[in-house]
Amino acid sequence: MDIIQESYQRLFPEKLFIYETEMEYNRRLGDFNANINLSRNKITLHLNLQWKDIDDEIKIGLIQHLLLKIFKGRAKTQNIQLYTHFIKNIPILTPKTKSNPPLEAAFQRVNQQFFSNQMEIPNLTWGQDSFRKLACYNFHNDTITVSTLFQDSPLHILDYLMYHEMLHKHFQFKHTGSRHSYHGTEFRKAEQKYPHFEQIDKDISKIISHRKSRGKQRTSLWKELFRI
Ligand SMILES: [Zn+2]
Repeated sequence: MDIIQESYQRLFPEKLFIYETEMEYNRRLGDFNANINLSRNKITLHLNLQWKDIDDEIKIGLIQHLLLKIFKGRAKTQNIQLYTHFIKNIPILTPKTKSNPPLEAAFQRVNQQFFSNQMEIPNLTWGQDSFRKLACYNFHNDTITVSTLFQDSPLHILDYLMYHEMLHKHFQFKHTGSRHSYHGTEFRKAEQKYPHFEQIDKDISKIISHRKSRGKQRTSLWKELFRI
């Protein structure tokens, strides 16, 4: 019996397993990432190569977690608990290789003001000049990334973005049912504890639209210069 079937049958003991399976490890997926797909009667599973040496019982938890997504179920098996526990500990096990003085300073200010200095420092890095994704927290590699748009912003804006991402790190494993709730009520309440958050939200929108129009000006200048 392969591991996908094993995971399925432990999850749905009363059901027959009527699927073909395919499993592939690769390096294309992000850290500790995996995805699953059901097409006709075939279940295809892709896992980041990092999963290869992880204990089968934890892997079964991961697969069950993914199977629940495609079969729209809810369950909390022992394996899923093992998997959740494992994922929770990735931040502790992940070596901190990326840091960055301005982001680290922002992290320290926010950690002191809102988290009583209790939060472990994650990896911190600048992302791309992204308008769509201003910042993000990836719990698979315990990394907060902030768009380079904010490299020259006033500190309180950087701190606010940092605060938002630190809340993700803080709340990462509060489940509602089997779904992760990223911006649930509790999250929003905590977010609004940041002083003058409404004003800062507006300031952020201004920075974005300003940068966007600067981008456009640059393009039209290029068009003029190169007649394209
Ligand atoms: Zn968010």
